[in-house]
Amino acid sequence: MTSALAATNLLQFDRDGLVAWFAQHGQPAFRARQVFRWVHQKGVADFDAMSDLAKPLRQFLRTHATVAALPVLAESRSADGTVKWLFDVGGGNAVEAVFIPEAQRNTLCVSSQAGCAVNCSFCSTGHQGFSRNLQTWEILAQLWHAEFTMRRELALPAGERAISNVVMMGMGEPLQNYAALIPALRVMLDDDGYGLSRRRVTVSTSGVVPMIERLAQDCPVALAVSLHAPNDALRDELVPLNRKYPLHELLAACRHYLDFAPRDFITFEYCMLDGVNDTPELAQQLVRLVQAEQVRCKFNLIPFNPFPQSGLRRSPAARVAAFAQILLDAGIVTTVRKTRGDDIDAACGQLAGEVQDRTRRVIRMQQAAAPTAAHPAH
Ligand code: SAH
Ligand code: SF4
Repeated sequence: MTSALAATNLLQFDRDGLVAWFAQHGQPAFRARQVFRWVHQKGVADFDAMSDLAKPLRQFLRTHATVAALPVLAESRSADGTVKWLFDVGGGNAVEAVFIPEAQRNTLCVSSQAGCAVNCSFCSTGHQGFSRNLQTWEILAQLWHAEFTMRRELALPAGERAISNVVMMGMGEPLQNYAALIPALRVMLDDDGYGLSRRRVTVSTSGVVPMIERLAQDCPVALAVSLHAPNDALRDELVPLNRKYPLHELLAACRHYLDFAPRDFITFEYCMLDGVNDTPELAQQLVRLVQAEQVRCKFNLIPFNPFPQSGLRRSPAARVAAFAQILLDAGIVTTVRKTRGDDIDAACGQLAGEVQDRTRRVIRMQQAAAPTAAHPAH
């Protein structure tokens, strides 16, 4: 008999994956679909509660499968209704997800990695370094937990969903965890899963160009690109990945992306840093850049959310407004993101979780072994 430890976590699969797993065990596709619905539409983890499954199948699933959520280490609630969960992903790592209620929608911000290797200078996750990619089930477990916790809490009628939008804007760079991301996105979009429309699921990226191209073909959800600077010299400093994929290549990838999603636009995120990237000259340069590259876009200006040791400050509101006005005058739709949940450190870029940084540990070890060696990249 298979031990509970060897049981397969069914949160790991998109629908096709689950059908394939069922087929391996001699079970027909429609059974997989029933189980998929119990798990993702009803939040049921106990196979015995899946009342339309035959007894022997339930018995089989009890032995060979599990629907295992992530342990919650902490839950914090903001005065504005924002809820943040800290999930234990083992090995001393923890990741965060944030539920953001608004009048017309409820958004869940989901993490894709424990830490992040891109190392943007203004991001708290980046400062922590990188530990590992999350698996598909760990990405989906954040949504699963948040959806069914909030459904109970908001006392929603049966079948009504608590979460209407998902943004991959938590910890990590989702396009550096592509293989795990795609099945997770498919479950979000699946009518037997969370049933979210393509435009209500957003992948936010710092600009992993080859993966933007692949995402367009595999799963063209809404794309947000973290721009933060209108020229390569400044962007190289703020988003080190720019040295590998400079602006011209990034904007070409954005243009191609829209070929697969003809009525869509790219959302450019721009974190407003006092005295760094917020002058009127840079706003004008930004207008020239997106016009020259012909990318259909909107801008979302994000007031910088400070965290200890960043050494950076938030742009004053008047400077943000002036910057926005220059974009608006050029006919570019521009919004300024309202900061939510900052009283519980749940705002953009404040998600820190707990990360056992492997990259820097390696670097430190190398330095200890060879104190005279040249500096590592960062
Ligand atoms: N790695 C992806 C998604 C996670 S970050 C990306 O970079 O796009 C989600 C958003 O939060 C990005 O636009 C990022 O630039 C922004 N962000 C990061 N740190 C921030 C901070 N301290 N204040 C405000 N926004 C921040
Ligand atoms: Fe990573 Fe995004 Fe933070 Fe940059 S802003 S370090 S890409 S999580």
